[in-house]
Amino acid sequence: METSKQLPKTIKLFKFARKEASLHGDYKIATMPRISEIARNTEDRVKVDLSFYLENDKTPCIKGIIDTKIILDCQRCLEAFPVELKINFNLAFVRYEDQAEELDSGFEVYVIGEEEDLDSIDLITDEILLSIPMAPSHDFDCNLKIDKEEIVEEIRKNPFDVLKNIKTTDFGKE
Ligand SMILES: [Zn+2]
Repeated sequence: METSKQLPKTIKLFKFARKEASLHGDYKIATMPRISEIARNTEDRVKVDLSFYLENDKTPCIKGIIDTKIILDCQRCLEAFPVELKINFNLAFVRYEDQAEELDSGFEVYVIGEEEDLDSIDLITDEILLSIPMAPSHDFDCNLKIDKEEIVEEIRKNPFDVLKNIKTTDFGKE
């Protein structure tokens, strides 16, 4: 069986859809800036398979799978919080919002106007960000790392306190 072709940096939406292209990508998390910001495992891979087609003979669509594991920080204990992702999606790209009404509800619809090119990394990043929890925390009872000393430290760093101190000092000088 022929292996599918490499997904280029730029997706030519209409061209790929008309050709019914099947493309794959294999990226380091480090190549995705918005994911790298929140992931601990930036050397790990993101695998992507995309199939392009035209719906109703005119609407370019992408059916795809993203396969990866992102290690986030647990918001409660600050330890590693791994998230296994197998994201299946079906995207439709329309010029105007009312064009979306002709599509069934199985599509995630993007309004792109006259745009025909999409950045591959941006598209993949968006799908990953939509699938990971906003405030990840372990479902077991992990311990709070913040103890009283750290809380005191936080209060000292409060910018308003700093402002107050400056004002007092200036006042004292006059
Ligand atoms: Zn935790």
